[in-house]
Amino acid sequence: MTGPARFKGIAASIGVAVGAARLVGREPRRISHRRIEDADIASELSRFEEAVLKSRAEIEAAKQELTDRHGPTYAPILDVYLLMHGDALLIDATSEAIRNDRINAEWALSKVTERLKKPLLEDASSYFQERARDIEHVREHLLRHLRGERRTECSTEGPTVLIAHDLTPADAVHMLAPPTVGLVTEAGAGSSHTAILARTFGVPAVVGVGPLAAHIDDDDVVLVDGFAGEVAVRVSPDERRTAEQRRDRFAAFLEAERTTSAMTRDGVSISVAANLELPNDVQAALENGAEGIGLYRTEFMCLDSLEPPSEEAQLEVYRGVVEAMAPKRVVFRTFDWRGDKRLRARDVKQRERGWLTTQINAVLRASTEGQVALMFPMVSTVDEFRAARAMVDRCRSQLSDERARTAEVPIGMMVEVPAAALLAERFTEYADFFAVGTNDLAHYTLAFDHRDNRSAMQSLDPAVLNLLQRIIAAASDAQLPCSMCGDLAADPVALCLALGLGYREISVPVSVVPLARAVIRNVDLHTATEVARDALGCGSAEAVRDLVVDRLDDDLGPLWREQGIV
Ligand code: PEP
Ligand code: MG
Repeated sequence: MTGPARFKGIAASIGVAVGAARLVGREPRRISHRRIEDADIASELSRFEEAVLKSRAEIEAAKQELTDRHGPTYAPILDVYLLMHGDALLIDATSEAIRNDRINAEWALSKVTERLKKPLLEDASSYFQERARDIEHVREHLLRHLRGERRTECSTEGPTVLIAHDLTPADAVHMLAPPTVGLVTEAGAGSSHTAILARTFGVPAVVGVGPLAAHIDDDDVVLVDGFAGEVAVRVSPDERRTAEQRRDRFAAFLEAERTTSAMTRDGVSISVAANLELPNDVQAALENGAEGIGLYRTEFMCLDSLEPPSEEAQLEVYRGVVEAMAPKRVVFRTFDWRGDKRLRARDVKQRERGWLTTQINAVLRASTEGQVALMFPMVSTVDEFRAARAMVDRCRSQLSDERARTAEVPIGMMVEVPAAALLAERFTEYADFFAVGTNDLAHYTLAFDHRDNRSAMQSLDPAVLNLLQRIIAAASDAQLPCSMCGDLAADPVALCLALGLGYREISVPVSVVPLARAVIRNVDLHTATEVARDALGCGSAEAVRDLVVDRLDDDLGPLWREQGIV
């Protein structure tokens, strides 16, 4: 193939990468459909069993590799896949299909996985979409072994950019290491396990790009822009040089920004905390100078398991995080189950109530090791929040550890449902703090699909901005701490607007902390406040962005351009 080509996808891991394309797995291959005779059932079953054993062994090896490279914390990501290799609904059901329907193993496996995926895919939430993808990953692994194919190895000399239809987490562990410097996938979402691993390993990634295979060959030069979610192939030597310079500047910038302060040009201190998904990221949060954990997405510890870990197991993980961050604060968010995550005062199912109690106990007990706060997601009515608080009080009163019973643990709420944003002032009487979730707030205000790539941009819609202003005004009037932990604060342009609206505490992905501080140091709050006021009257998210870029160009233009953000 000749001539440059460009693609847009979801920015899943920041940074710039330049390397030679390495195509792995490409398109999902056609599945062979074969009817079998009674006499062949036994051998087909043992062929399937052998594939399961080989696939399992490969994931065990990846788990060991992950543990060697990054400690034990990430192992649960792969445990999920190991569990699926013993799952009755998947593995036993496939054997049954081979036996009862008299079909070959590949066909049986794809029948069963399609059946398992169907209800998950019917739910628009990204959580269930990702769980469907996990099933696909296990299927792909098993199919590879059924076909007797080996995993593609990264044999290319020098920096390599992996181009895949999708990468299973086990393959990601194996392949997101030198010489791999970047990752591009046709499928996938920013919240997938593979995207999390790319962020963990510091590999710039763009996912969900759509069909690529016809446009890229092995060894084509690929530029990955993990800020803008852009991929360019076979570019001119000049463009390549520019990208390499950007890559090097960003690495130097990160190094230099690790210990800087977050004070605006006009001398106002802004608190920059980190969002945490996996406990090991605490180290990176500390290295990047985060002032605490502003949002601990605890549901990531459950991944695909059928239920959360026991109270003792949670306590051990939470204690580790709280101790490591002490005396900085860790804000735990109770499990936020996608799709069905609403906390309902009256009809919380008994089982979920039990899980919540277990988690609240673990958080309260961990609070003796440092500074802890607890908050609830997706709150929409005052009654719900009061019921949640009452639950915490009940848990607290029943703890046997006197220190845990009396430890100060502020109880807050995420403001991310428009109903709560509209009536924010009514919640100030009951909540100890607000944490604003701009991702869900934009989603529910504008009724767009979570899978829509443009969702980050839509957070700037004037309707969302007006809600953000209501929330911060209500919090300020009541002198209630209020932070912003949604992705709007992580966008170097939108962050200026958040500051202009009055937000003084933010929490962003660990890798974005240094960049957020650099943006803050270049903002003049007086100007940002005027821009925010005008932005509220704009007609669209695009107009808001243009306004901010134009009006703050003197102060921020050099930084934005330096990092290739505008
Ligand atoms: C949000 O909705 O903005 C948020 C921070 O929560 P999550 O992204 O985990 O839903
Ligand atoms: Mg949310």
